Amino acid sequence: RHAVTARGLVKVYGSGDAAVHALRGVDVAFAQGRFTAIMGPSGSGKSTLMHCLAGLDTVTEGEVYIGDTEITRLNDRQLTRLRRERIGFVFQSFNLLPTLTAEENILLPLNIAGRQPDRELFDLVIDTVGLRERLKHRPSELSGGQQQRVAVARALITKPHVIFADEPTGNLDSRSGTEVLSFLRTSVRELGQTIVMVTHDPVAASYADRVVFLRDGRLVTELLRPTPQSVL
Ligand code: ADP
Ligand code: ADP
Repeated sequence: RHAVTARGLVKVYGSGDAAVHALRGVDVAFAQGRFTAIMGPSGSGKSTLMHCLAGLDTVTEGEVYIGDTEITRLNDRQLTRLRRERIGFVFQSFNLLPTLTAEENILLPLNIAGRQPDRELFDLVIDTVGLRERLKHRPSELSGGQQQRVAVARALITKPHVIFADEPTGNLDSRSGTEVLSFLRTSVRELGQTIVMVTHDPVAASYADRVVFLRDGRLVTELLRPTPQSVL
């Protein structure tokens, strides 16, 4: 079973002489319950690929499936709803609401969707992430690593079909980065969460089950059970 599938993905920005071929025919599938990292040099198309997979950007050619749903056929309204109901996002810059506590931030997507929190899942996530003592704190009272763990908890609480993480450790020191990566790994192992992460950091990528490498808009190679050395 694949959580996310892309076939013949082409993305061209602009047109004519100014056209930039960001993706030149990408075929890739992400298995359910696996943690995959996307690596590649700056400008190779990593962000573009993630944005196309997550329905944040339109594709020029090709198909993207989230589960069985071909998202490249959906209109804007359907796409917004699919993103809200089935996709979790983690960004480099945490994107927490400053006036809400950690707990309120984590529960926000459920509140917006009018869904009841799954208390068992909430407790499991909070204990795994080690935030029990920080639930009433606001983001400004938390370290960067703690803020990012809140952001991951917020992504997990809706039980999304897939979490897309864009350089989740980009703003963290290596110790906080390691805490966030361990938490991502644990959520894959304990909850069967599917995660697709863009990173340029070999240590971050080594936490994934699989790394795919992009170059000039093409998928050039992939690696199973990566180590920090093997992805360099
Ligand atoms: P990466 O994430 O690997 O650094 P990107 O996906 O950001 O790569 O960019 C791939 C290529 O597409 C680059 O040449 C970049 O300049 C170009 N690009 C990205 N976004 C846009 C845009 N909105 N308009 C025009 N060109 C873009
Ligand atoms: P499993 O328990 O599913 O066998 P592991 O936790 O042994 O998986 O590791 C799977 C992958 O994650 C390995 O490729 C490993 O390199 C990476 N990994 C796990 N923990 C760490 C860590 N603390 N530091 C660096 N890489 C790690």
